[in-house]
Amino acid sequence: TLSSNNEQKPRILLMGLRRSGKSSIQKVVFHKMSPNETLFLESTNKIVKDDINNSSFVQFQIWDFPGQIDFFDSTFDSDMIFGGCGALVFVIDAQDDYMDALNKLNITVTKAYKVNQNIKFEVFIHKVDGLGDDFKMESQRDIHQRANDDLSDAGYDKIHLSFHLTSIYDHSIFEAFSKVVQKLIPQLPALENLLNILNTNSAIEKSFLFDVVSKIYIATDSTPVDMQSYELCCDMIDVVIDVSWIYGYSVRDEQETTAFDEQSSSLIKLNNGTVLYLREVNKFLALVCILREDNFDHKGVIDYNFLCFREAIQQVFELRNKHQSMTNSSGSP
Ligand code: GDP
Repeated sequence: TLSSNNEQKPRILLMGLRRSGKSSIQKVVFHKMSPNETLFLESTNKIVKDDINNSSFVQFQIWDFPGQIDFFDSTFDSDMIFGGCGALVFVIDAQDDYMDALNKLNITVTKAYKVNQNIKFEVFIHKVDGLGDDFKMESQRDIHQRANDDLSDAGYDKIHLSFHLTSIYDHSIFEAFSKVVQKLIPQLPALENLLNILNTNSAIEKSFLFDVVSKIYIATDSTPVDMQSYELCCDMIDVVIDVSWIYGYSVRDEQETTAFDEQSSSLIKLNNGTVLYLREVNKFLALVCILREDNFDHKGVIDYNFLCFREAIQQVFELRNKHQSMTNSSGSP
């Protein structure tokens, strides 16, 4: 049985046919593997529970299923597997013939829906790096259409599928995961609101709240996200983390520590008059802002506003913890 602690975590299931790219996604997003190294991954043939809780703010598990799992096998406990699941990510290899995958998607989604109607269904149309733009759009349209038709034919009009075009060779996989994770964070509106307030009061153009380890952004302000800004912020995190690990790493009292902590901040000026400003929010989260260099003159105000912002973020999450310990008080401590 699962411990009560595990049940609280929103759980993401990662499913799809064999070789669709599940293990690669998991390794690249959560374990910093470089995309080229995934060529040597061994195929998954058992359920992998990857608990990334200790290093990441986002608390969830990825269950990597083998492609040919048989739902009608009596050893497959669908109540247990789908019951506590927040989102089901179904990976489809867009470079391959996807008829089989669509068939599997339909069986999986309807089975899961019967157990748990609150699951968010997310379809990753994956490996699109190998496709031309026209073909990419055409595949997305076709997959979208067929998947929805199959569902309504089976009488499941109510099931909503979200689609994402993804590849591990660019930032699209991180973007897609950000969207998936954000749907599972109940505090999202509060976080967005705090970011909006911070931006208005500090003349910031765009800000992201990042889970540092995975480079998933768990919230951003309500202005639209453009991929380039997101990529810039991801690159900045990589630079800061790398420098921290190389030059800030030390072993103190037999404990490994890095220079990346609550005190961390970094500032990068770009040649187009824009500034990237990173501040650490807590052990897991960092705020990355994009603003015009002219507006960075009043850095003192920005820093003051940031402290207020950090305080507010802490309160938002403390509320959650309080709520959880209240609902949990009947169980184990
Ligand atoms: P799994 O069986 O679903 O876990 O699939 P794997 O993660 O083992 O991936 C199968 C193959 O697909 C590997 O050779 C990966 O390198 C490759 N792959 C995974 N993601 C991508 C992608 O986004 N683009 C491309 N071109 N290949 C990918």
